[in-house]
Amino acid sequence: DAQSDSQISHLALDIGGTLAKLVYFSGNKSSVKASGRSRSILQGKLHFSKFETSKIDDCVAFIKRKQLGSHHPKDLGNDRIVVKATGGGAFKFADLFKEKLDFCLDKEDEMDCLVAGANFLLKAVDQEAFTYIGGQKEFVKINQDDLYPFLLVNIGSGVSMIKVDGNGKFERVSGTSLGGGTFWGLGKLLTKCNSFDELLELSHQGNNRVVDMLVGDIYGGIDYSKMGLSSTAIASSFGKTISANKVLENYRAEDLARSLLRMISNNIGQIAYLTALRFGLKRIFFGGFFIRGHAYTMDTISVAVHYWSKGDAQAMFLRHEGFLGALGAFVNYNK
Ligand code: ADP
Repeated sequence: DAQSDSQISHLALDIGGTLAKLVYFSGNKSSVKASGRSRSILQGKLHFSKFETSKIDDCVAFIKRKQLGSHHPKDLGNDRIVVKATGGGAFKFADLFKEKLDFCLDKEDEMDCLVAGANFLLKAVDQEAFTYIGGQKEFVKINQDDLYPFLLVNIGSGVSMIKVDGNGKFERVSGTSLGGGTFWGLGKLLTKCNSFDELLELSHQGNNRVVDMLVGDIYGGIDYSKMGLSSTAIASSFGKTISANKVLENYRAEDLARSLLRMISNNIGQIAYLTALRFGLKRIFFGGFFIRGHAYTMDTISVAVHYWSKGDAQAMFLRHEGFLGALGAFVNYNK
């Protein structure tokens, strides 16, 4: 027995170094009468959007057009709409959001939000985590009683590695500056491509053997079997470009993109494994917008973790990979 309907929209932001992520809820709040008592229920949908941080004005225009946040409570002090926000941009663009949207950004810690987002997804969403081995995607059933501890590796512009022991219980134990920003930045310089998706597409079609120095190149086409290294293992990323009498223009953009993707993904997989080993963690969840559900990226990371751990540790990926921080800020409304 629904009494009244009111449109509501809730919004949370994660404004990172490269991308601004939005999670918003649109739906109805109805008042339902059951056994003579009235209670409110929410029905609706969660939406996910992203914008380049360098085009933050597009993000602002989108929020304005959709009237997101218009149902949020207002700050008593200044009468502005209070919106949860995380990432460095919550600080950097606080004034912009104040001027253009009359928002008062309620800043949440970035790591807190990443962890809250990951915990929420792993508990509340059925088919969220999956493994990716040999081209096969397989969803993992998460046992709630046996979820912690795990390593969360967020590959954004930079990379953070967080040991998670429970809700709100975590420590940022490692990281690397060789992350998504490095892949996208170097890739743009090397291939002159215009978008991240184009760079991924190029990498898909490339062959890294033209650019990377392989074990076989050093050993005359044979394996270094004593060390268990096959002839196709990469001995030196980009190592072949020094010996050949070639300049950048002589290389195919596809092959450069492929080598770069392998270099970055392998390196992150290896550091992640070493970090997991240091803390005795068997499960590693990878998030962040670098992954983009890209088969070759996930495959490289999975192989790196499998190879270095001799099959002991497992790489898992999250369906909402890029939205952990924004989701974490969103669920913090219920704190
Ligand atoms: P941050 O919070 O640091 O911006 P993200 O998790 O949003 O991090 O990931 C940013 C990275 O995602 C980029 O460095 C790039 O590697 C990758 N990426 C994926 N899609 C895009 C895109 N459309 N534009 C730019 N970078 C993208």
